[in-house]
Amino acid sequence: MAHFFSGHSRCLICERIIESTEDLRMFPAFLPRGHSPWSYSDGCFHLTCFDGWEWRATFLQLYSEAQRIDASIPKGLTLEENEAWHLRQTLEWHQKILHEDKLRSSSSR
Ligand SMILES: [Zn+2]
Repeated sequence: MAHFFSGHSRCLICERIIESTEDLRMFPAFLPRGHSPWSYSDGCFHLTCFDGWEWRATFLQLYSEAQRIDASIPKGLTLEENEAWHLRQTLEWHQKILHEDKLRSSSSR
């Protein structure tokens, strides 16, 4: 998870200091390296910056897919089975979204 230090952490969009948690939106690392908004996936944002961000809708959609994987872990697995299942699901999802991202960025050129 991104770390937030009041009065020290910077917004990844405007690069200004975020003064308070009331104006904060933060995300864990959830995108694979190489994906277009990858460098934003482990960061903090001002709410206002995030709400006006061009990547907002895509980013939230991807984040909800990542959370859906986390929430769909089958019950009754051992810790090792659980980790292996999660890794497999996450890698498959990463391949899928990297492929879609490549299609999107090449079609917009
Ligand atoms: Zn900002």
